[in-house]
Amino acid sequence: MNVDKKRPDDKLKPGRPPVRAIYRALYRHWGPQHWWPGRTRLEVVVGAILTQNTAWTNVEKAMARLRREKALNLSVLHRVELNTLAEWIRPAGYYNVKARRLRAFTRMVDKEFDGRLERLWKLEDRVLRDTLLRVHGIGPETADSIMLYAAGRPFFVVDAYTRRFLGRHGWITDRATYDEVARWFTDVLPRDVPVYNEYHALIVRLGKTTCRRRPLCDRCPLKRWLPESGDGG
Ligand code: SF4
Repeated sequence: MNVDKKRPDDKLKPGRPPVRAIYRALYRHWGPQHWWPGRTRLEVVVGAILTQNTAWTNVEKAMARLRREKALNLSVLHRVELNTLAEWIRPAGYYNVKARRLRAFTRMVDKEFDGRLERLWKLEDRVLRDTLLRVHGIGPETADSIMLYAAGRPFFVVDAYTRRFLGRHGWITDRATYDEVARWFTDVLPRDVPVYNEYHALIVRLGKTTCRRRPLCDRCPLKRWLPESGDGG
């Protein structure tokens, strides 16, 4: 399929994408991923910010340091010197930027919710997502990770792994927006937190195992949908 021949506004392949069949193929191949990126809701938020532009293994090192410093609570994260916070999260990379982003989040909770996270989680879906998106350094992917994994709301997370495999199969183009890619899944799937959770975790597994920078299509459960096979769904 030559995606370049498509109209500029035709960024998603028309027709019914094989969203459910892909899920079944991934699940059959790798099984449940038991993925929950954090022990508490706050840890999920911290992890979602720290994982920007870095591997999760580096995030784990930064989280371990925060745990040693007994800093995985909102009050410490909000009050500690910014330089100290940056030092604690150094293994996650871009540590000065990420320290400022963490501080922007804690400042928002402090200012708008009296420092009480539980008040933030009480917001209605769209209001909560918009509140997160207003925080400096929180974009749609980070916001939806927090929505899904910390707040338990049905928002599909689109990351680089998602775009990579969809693009390689010609199901999206580079021009597809974040929301358009998310809708590729949510238009078909039920609005269901465990399904969104498992699906995203399986896509991460796919991106780390077979659909890597150099794809290993021969051993990939999605091989049958490669464009060359003439079976796009
Ligand atoms: S078949 Fe190849 S391109 Fe498709 S998801 Fe697997 S590794 Fe990626």
